[in-house]
Amino acid sequence: MPDEFPTLEVVAAIGVIAALVGTFQLRAALGEIPKRATELERALRSGDLDAARALCGRAEGAGLAAIGGAIVGALGRTPPPGTSELRRTSEAALRRAQRLAQRGRARDLVVAAVLIGAGAYATGAALGVGAFFYAGLGVALAATALSPVLRRSLLRELERASKGLLEAALAYRGARVGSESVECSTCGAVEALRLGPPALSCVERFGVERLDVCLTCGRVTGQVASPRAIAADPAHGIEMISALPPSENSSTAPDREHDG
Ligand SMILES: [Zn+2]
Repeated sequence: MPDEFPTLEVVAAIGVIAALVGTFQLRAALGEIPKRATELERALRSGDLDAARALCGRAEGAGLAAIGGAIVGALGRTPPPGTSELRRTSEAALRRAQRLAQRGRARDLVVAAVLIGAGAYATGAALGVGAFFYAGLGVALAATALSPVLRRSLLRELERASKGLLEAALAYRGARVGSESVECSTCGAVEALRLGPPALSCVERFGVERLDVCLTCGRVTGQVASPRAIAADPAHGIEMISALPPSENSSTAPDREHDG
């Protein structure tokens, strides 16, 4: 029995330290995210991809570093990613960062269980532990109870940061794409009219992000991120056209021969 009492206090002390460290880490990340996100946005809007990359490396909050890293990584590719691709990249990174932030939840539960267990055992076995022991447990439990609140704020901050970063990334991409050659592949003219959002709002759902109209011959060119995602729907004016004779084109239509 004599060595049970210090063991219990050591367990309680570890629980207290774990609870406080966890809470302080959350507080620190919460303070850092908006600041780093603003710096990252500024770097992207000024077109400085290297500075953005460096900022991602310095970001202490793993969540923000993951989101920033994914967006900056996508922006650095050639050809530049489309609007919907950038959006998908940032959403996937946000989900990863949220999962990362949620991981602390299990640790909180373990810490709380250890603390409550230690307190209950000390009381039940009438070990005569001091008021200091219970005060420590109280502080640690209060800190652990605060964690879910902080974590929710953290998730909100991450979401806000990823939204701001995506906007900055779109601005960066727009500037880069805009400086590309617009030479017409039909007539060689170098002047074109570029249609983008909101002018293209009616075809945005198909993934059309911009259309260039040659001012000389009228040729229209553009790019759709995932053409296979558009389903043919003749009733609504979406028709499949092909240069192949119908019999050779069966791979694009459901094969009725194998239905029965
Ligand atoms: Zn042309």
